Amino acid sequence: MIKMKRNKIPVFLKNNKKKWTNAFLTGSSFSWHNKQKELLKSLKDMTLSHCAFCDDILVPKGSDNGEIEHFRPKEKYKKYAFAWANLYPICRSCNGTKNDRFDKLLLRPDENEFNFSNWFRLDPSTFELKPEKIGNPNWIRAEITIELYGLNKNKTTRRLFEHDRIANNQYENKDNQPFRFI
Ligand SMILES: [Zn+2]
Repeated sequence: MIKMKRNKIPVFLKNNKKKWTNAFLTGSSFSWHNKQKELLKSLKDMTLSHCAFCDDILVPKGSDNGEIEHFRPKEKYKKYAFAWANLYPICRSCNGTKNDRFDKLLLRPDENEFNFSNWFRLDPSTFELKPEKIGNPNWIRAEITIELYGLNKNKTTRRLFEHDRIANNQYENKDNQPFRFI
């Protein structure tokens, strides 16, 4: 989870938000089709095509081009289904693990004062993310975030692999690298 700066709401979303939200609330022949692609593109622009939670890379050539995360799940919080601040780009693994769960203590990568090292540390022997407890009385928020998004699930082996690639200077540009916190 890397600090993310939220861009302004895209014009197409601003113009359609009310209409789409009403359609979603009433269930009147609502289709996500076509809306998803443009939304996902706008979301990925903010993270340079990384998952906003585990920071894995989301590219068309990879196995996972990304999905749309509704931070407050859209089935429980329907009025937030098209709320710009509720949407994040996410990988299939994190999205599938979190599913429709929510906890008000979850961390947002774009919240004020968030940065990786205040909240998380990477265990150098297991490559697991751990909550940073030093100087952080609210570390439980990091623990809940790790748990709900499964930030260590199926990720530690790949982090080790990427760690070795980074050590061998395989990436000229750090933004093309998965798990930029390594
Ligand atoms: Zn992810």
